[in-house]
Amino acid sequence: MRVTAAVLNSYDTPFEIEELDIEEPRAGEVRIKIIATGICHTDGLAQHADLPFPTPGVLGHEGAGIVEKIGTGVTSVAVGDAVVIGWPWCGTCEHCLSGNPRYCDQLGPLLAGGGRGDGTSSLARDGKPIHSHFFGQSSFSTYAIASESSLVKAPEGVAIEKLGPLACGISTGAGAIFNALKPTLGSTLVIYGAGAVGLSAIMAAKNTGATTIIAVDLHDSRLALAKKYGATHTINVHSSNPVAEVIKICGRHADYALECTGNIKVVRQAIDSVGMLGTVCLIGGAPAGAEFTADHLSTLWGKRIIGMLGGESTSKKLIRGLLELNAQGRFPYDELLVEFPLSQINEALAASYSGSVLKPVIRMPHE
Ligand SMILES: [Zn+2]
Ligand SMILES: [Zn+2]
Repeated sequence: MRVTAAVLNSYDTPFEIEELDIEEPRAGEVRIKIIATGICHTDGLAQHADLPFPTPGVLGHEGAGIVEKIGTGVTSVAVGDAVVIGWPWCGTCEHCLSGNPRYCDQLGPLLAGGGRGDGTSSLARDGKPIHSHFFGQSSFSTYAIASESSLVKAPEGVAIEKLGPLACGISTGAGAIFNALKPTLGSTLVIYGAGAVGLSAIMAAKNTGATTIIAVDLHDSRLALAKKYGATHTINVHSSNPVAEVIKICGRHADYALECTGNIKVVRQAIDSVGMLGTVCLIGGAPAGAEFTADHLSTLWGKRIIGMLGGESTSKKLIRGLLELNAQGRFPYDELLVEFPLSQINEALAASYSGSVLKPVIRMPHE
């Protein structure tokens, strides 16, 4: 079958819209008509080789659409079902078997190996394979092939074009709050970075017992949104020293900090913002090889520095829970989305980097 896709032909170049061929779904696989796909900074990292996905290939890892064809043995979804494509997992390693598929032993190859786990690709150009299965999907394409096990069936009546970002960025921010930090009643929390991920974390924090929720960012416009979605205090780093300001607001160090920027200087500020028995969660994506430091003595004070992927839990559990909160008006992540046509994918990514758009979503060209 022919597809239209945004191809990354080599690192540090713009995506190019091309016609490719996609395979029929194999056993255990599903072919999905992509309606829309979010753009996450991880796509930008891969474009610049900071996450080494081989080229030429197709990126995109926040796809949502309609099941168009199923392979043999597929039972949990049927043709016509609306689905979000969650993260892939092998299902047989120790971590998958113990209920932690985000930390599947095969995660690296499944996310960024350039094909299926067995090394084959589902996409070809002029008869020659090009790399597929970025995060098990490569959804910058009108159709994608994914494993049945990564799919999350959407509830009836939800707008499919708004679902894709729940596959990664939005779930990562919210999951860090619900699954990693779990703020207790009356606690203090600081969130560094008020982009789509940080704002999702703030929306999630508003649903917890945290009574001080501090947002830190460079842009006043984002801090205004942080307030709208649940921050009790905001700090613009241009005008103040964020760590000193956090201590002033809390009357002591914060109980929890969440780092969403991937900026190494900010990672240190997040670590320094929490004190005794404090917890810092790192979710921002830094360039490959980046290192951070921490003060040794104050880390010994029962401080925990934890890294987290994808919001932990399973894609099914997270996405279903967030959709339920969204339906109740308690998690309005969809207000952050801005649609672009596939032909403007480079402009969409640039808008996300400049901060003019919080969460770009690429709408696929189907008749
Ligand atoms: Zn596994
Ligand atoms: Zn992502």
